[in-house]
Amino acid sequence: MYDVKDFVLEVHKRLYAVYGSQIKYFHDYDPLSELVSTLLSHRTKNSHSAEALTNLQNTFGSWENVRDADVSEVQAALKPCTWPEQKAPRLQQVLRLITEQRGELNLDFLADTDVNKARLWLESFPGVGPKSSAAVISFSNLRGRALPVDSHHYRVAVRLGLIDVKIGEGKANRILENQVPAEFTAKEMFDHHQVMMRHGQKVCFYFKPDCINCVLLDSCSTGKTLSSTVGENISRHSPINN
Ligand code: SF4
Repeated sequence: MYDVKDFVLEVHKRLYAVYGSQIKYFHDYDPLSELVSTLLSHRTKNSHSAEALTNLQNTFGSWENVRDADVSEVQAALKPCTWPEQKAPRLQQVLRLITEQRGELNLDFLADTDVNKARLWLESFPGVGPKSSAAVISFSNLRGRALPVDSHHYRVAVRLGLIDVKIGEGKANRILENQVPAEFTAKEMFDHHQVMMRHGQKVCFYFKPDCINCVLLDSCSTGKTLSSTVGENISRHSPINN
């Protein structure tokens, strides 16, 4: 009988065999810096959001100074990002709300907070969804157990039949997280996101997924359908174009 956790484990093992040696935690931000980073990263290249984060740190020196600065100055520092005119006021709003609720601008207390509670609390802030809350838990120096799901990860999951495309990326996050074997550690959750994301970037492309060279082809009904379509533009027949 089909067991989704067994299937996810098999997918993980095969992808980890391909990409595992490349995976390591890519930075060591405290949770507040990670939250700022994720707020800047929406629809922005990693290199551009990293540049904007560095601009904020170099220009203002502290998150308190970012919070209290003139919004036009923050907007100028966020120029490498998409939509700095929206991200600057949103960022300051979130920093003010955290200060109001915590009495200080620091998220280190999350290390001693249950992960689900921490994520729900983070998601109460404007612009912070499941992907962002998972990123704060997993990518920051909290190194907690949460599964970030970006658009590449989501696309691969849909094509493998793990999630219905109608569910959407936001709501898919916790469904996909619950499909991961319970014994997965925090690092294995991080690895799982990384291998799914890399597979979306390197093989399971938005247009023309390279199914013929995919290690998951024998387990992927989408891939079987696409790869049997000889001589036609594979992307035109994809059941998902996201
Ligand atoms: S077989 Fe094709 S559609 Fe399925 S995961 Fe691999 S590249 Fe993506």
